[in-house]
Amino acid sequence: MSSKNLRRDFKNRADLIRYLQLTFPDEAHRDANISPMRGGREAGLALLKTIDPSDYGKSRNHLDGAVTKLSPYIRHGALTLTEVRDHALDITNKPQFEANKFVFELAYRDYFQHVYAKEGVSIWDDLEPYKTGFVANDYADNLPNDVLTAQTGVAAMDAFIRELYQTGYLHNHARMWLAAYVVHWRRIKWQAGARWFLQHLLDGDPASNNLSWQWVASTFSQKPYFFNLTNLQKFSHGHYYDTTSNVGHEIFDLPYEVLEKQLFPHKPQNDRPTRKPKKSGKRRQRPHHYE
Ligand SMILES: Cc1cc2nc3c(=O)[nH]c(=O)nc-3n(C[C@H](O)[C@H](O)[C@H](O)COP(=O)(O)OP(=O)(O)OC[C@H]3O[C@@H](n4cnc5c(N)ncnc54)[C@H](O)[C@@H]3O)c2cc1C
Repeated sequence: MSSKNLRRDFKNRADLIRYLQLTFPDEAHRDANISPMRGGREAGLALLKTIDPSDYGKSRNHLDGAVTKLSPYIRHGALTLTEVRDHALDITNKPQFEANKFVFELAYRDYFQHVYAKEGVSIWDDLEPYKTGFVANDYADNLPNDVLTAQTGVAAMDAFIRELYQTGYLHNHARMWLAAYVVHWRRIKWQAGARWFLQHLLDGDPASNNLSWQWVASTFSQKPYFFNLTNLQKFSHGHYYDTTSNVGHEIFDLPYEVLEKQLFPHKPQNDRPTRKPKKSGKRRQRPHHYE
C-alpha cells in the first residue's frame, strides 16, 4: 500500500495503533510494536529543547550516552539541520569546543546527502571493491531467517534486532555492531542489511544508511569495520536493552589481530588496519568510530 493511501485522521493514538495493526498484520510475527516515538514538528521541537551537546562528544559512543534521537525528525523534514545546529550552538557555553562533535555529526549527515546527490542510485552498488580479501560474490544475497526473526543465538544482536523492530530506532554503535555482524561474521551482502534497515528505521534514509553500511563493509572506506567483545562491553556496559545475557558472545571474544585473521583470512597482511588510525583527514576515514 502506498503511504498516500493511509488514513491520517484519528481520534486518538489508540485508534491509530489499532488501524496500523489491522493494516499491516504481517508485521505481527516480527514482534512489531508501534514505536513510542511521536511524529511531527511539535514533538521534534520539544525533543530539541532537551538535548545536551556539551556531554555529547564524550558519551556519544555509549549506548546510554547523550545521543538525541532527533534523526527521524531531521530525516522527515520536521526539523532542519540548520536549526538543530543553531540551537546546539546557542545553548552551549563554549560552542566551538562543547558542541563541536555534535555539529560534526550533523555535517556527516549533510556530507552523505551530497554523496547521494552525486552518485544517485549507484549508492546501491559497491562504490569500491571490498577490502576484506573477499569479492562481492562471496557474500550471500539475502538475510537468513534467524537474523530476520532475532534468533541468531547471539544475545546482543538479537536484542538489537528486537529493539529495531519495536522502536524503529537504534543507537549508532548498535547499528555499527549489527551491520558488522551481518556483513563480516555472517558474510552477507551489505545491500541486504541496508534494505532491511530501511524497512524498519524511522529515520531510514538511503544516503546515511547505505553509505554507513558501505563504510562498515569497506566498499566506501579503506578497511572493514569490526569489533570485539571488549568494545561491545565497554560501550554497552554489558546491557543490551532488554537482556544482560552473554550467550553466543564467544565469537567476538578475541584480540583484534586474531579476530581479523579469522574474519578475513585472505586479506593481504600489509593491508591490516591499525587500531589507532592516523588523524590524517584522509577521505572516507572515520577514526572516532574505533574508540
Ligand atoms: C549501519 C548504519 C545505518 C545507518 N542508517 C541511518 C539512516 O537510515 N538514517 C540516518 O539518519 N542515520 C543513519 N545512520 C547514522 C546514525 O546511526 C544515525 O544518524 C544516528 O544514530 C541517529 O540517532 P540520533 O539522532 O540519536 O543521533 P545523534 O548522535 O544524537 O546525532 C545527531 C544527528 O546527527 C546526525 N548523525 C549522527 N551520527 C551520524 C552518523 N554516523 N552518520 C550520519 N549522520 C549522523 C543525525 O542526523 C543525528 O540525528 C546509520 C549508521 C549506521 C552505522
